[in-house]
Amino acid sequence: MEQAEIGLIGLGVMGSNLALNIAEKGNKIAVFNRTPEATRKFYAEAGELAGQIIPCETLEEFVAAIRPPRPIIIMIKAGDPVDQQMKLLEPYLSSGDIMIDAGNANFRDTIRRFDTLKDSPLTFIGMGVSGGEEGARHGPSIMVGGTEDSWKRVEKVLTSISAKFNGEPCVAWLGNDGAGHFVKTIHNGIEYADMQMIAEIYGILRDGLKLSAPEISKVFGRWNEGRLNSYLIEITEKVLAANDPISGKPMVDVILDAAGQKGTGKWSVIEAQNLGVAATGIEAAVAGRVLSSQKEERVAAEKIFGLPQTVAMPGTDGLSFLDDLENALLAAKIAAYAQGFAVMAAASKEYGWNLPMPTIAKIWRAGCIIRSQFLDEITSAFTKDPDVANLIVTPAFAQLVQETDGALRRVVSTAVMSGLPVPALASALSYFDTYRRGRGTANLIQAQRDFFGAHGFDRVDGVDKHHGPWGSGLNA
Ligand code: NDP
Repeated sequence: MEQAEIGLIGLGVMGSNLALNIAEKGNKIAVFNRTPEATRKFYAEAGELAGQIIPCETLEEFVAAIRPPRPIIIMIKAGDPVDQQMKLLEPYLSSGDIMIDAGNANFRDTIRRFDTLKDSPLTFIGMGVSGGEEGARHGPSIMVGGTEDSWKRVEKVLTSISAKFNGEPCVAWLGNDGAGHFVKTIHNGIEYADMQMIAEIYGILRDGLKLSAPEISKVFGRWNEGRLNSYLIEITEKVLAANDPISGKPMVDVILDAAGQKGTGKWSVIEAQNLGVAATGIEAAVAGRVLSSQKEERVAAEKIFGLPQTVAMPGTDGLSFLDDLENALLAAKIAAYAQGFAVMAAASKEYGWNLPMPTIAKIWRAGCIIRSQFLDEITSAFTKDPDVANLIVTPAFAQLVQETDGALRRVVSTAVMSGLPVPALASALSYFDTYRRGRGTANLIQAQRDFFGAHGFDRVDGVDKHHGPWGSGLNA
């Protein structure tokens, strides 16, 4: 029997769709799943692609079905299962074989796995895949980390299955060891911020302007034709238009307001903090999900405090406030993306990855959850100035911020006066107001630190006296 050119372990939601995508692009693929029933079901449902698939029920059979040197994608639950699976697989592998972890790994695990195999005849790639079920099946965005040599050996097959933006593949080698999984983590962090900001705008439309779900759907539909055009806005329009088959009510109105999370948002915040980068939009989004999950506490608190009176919304009878909401979302998005890219720039220095910012923006333009028109503009900005300190100060984005920050200010202040929570939108505004102010207020913090801890400070006049006259003797 003709051997497969690639193997895949893990026929869950992502793995089965990725395997069908690989088969459809003309690549012969061997597949294996811990529970063999899933392999049988997958093969039985593969239809005309079955001819490209070799279903295997043991690891021995699976490895033998792939032509060496073997690229093997592992698409299973992240964490310990990946280590367990690699341990079970290794005895069957031979020199030159590549294990590719395509799950949502923590990049620190990826570096550890990469280092463990570094001096062995085997190779490890950590690969971030975005786009959910649909992306996996028809073209995801793929972020690869590992040696350049190992990338070259999988480049053809990964290019064939990736999403395309105007014909350009949304896959790239981003750097050594954990680079791919780090970039995927920050992608998810930005996705958290994007979703939180959309939800906050939805809250203003629902609780401030008192619009119904179908009415709000139309607003998002209109915005999707403008500068906010993106997958997340598109699905928001669709979600808000859907009805619950059981109650007949809008589907969103019968969904519990408690959001889940699997960890990549939290990792983004932790890594931003470790690197000393302010990622306030992602922080607000993760905190927003945490508070959302405390449903019982919130219901109890509402009984104590009640809800504040909504102030009269400006432009409720016209379009002006809706325009403000659209522009506010755009302004806030810019801050969140600028923060995400700043985290990646810092990580690139810290881990020696040399992350290519224009390429990252490029491969996020299609296939992934945050795909948008906006990312094409980010691609252009970083292509013109790949080493810029912050996306906000690139000429194109500086102009966009200048056009939209007034709207963000009006929206945040209106929401605040109405008691409508907008933590991510407000964080974006404060981030911008802090970033654009040459003389901040940390002089006071430095004075306090010097007062109680003799930490010293720098002076604005360059005079060589670095402690204040606090009268303690020690500091005077
Ligand atoms: P599913 O829950 O659909 O499938 C999980 C898979 O992992 C199954 O094949 C399961 O095998 C296997 N598995 C679980 N534990 C072990 C173990 N100890 N040893 C071997 N195999 C094991 O998950 P998804 O397909 O959604 O996710 C797979 C990976 O992709 C995860 O890392 C996820 O974070 C990531 N991801 C998911 C996305 C999504 O939208 N769902 C998007 C991008 C990445 P069995 O059938 O035997 O239980």
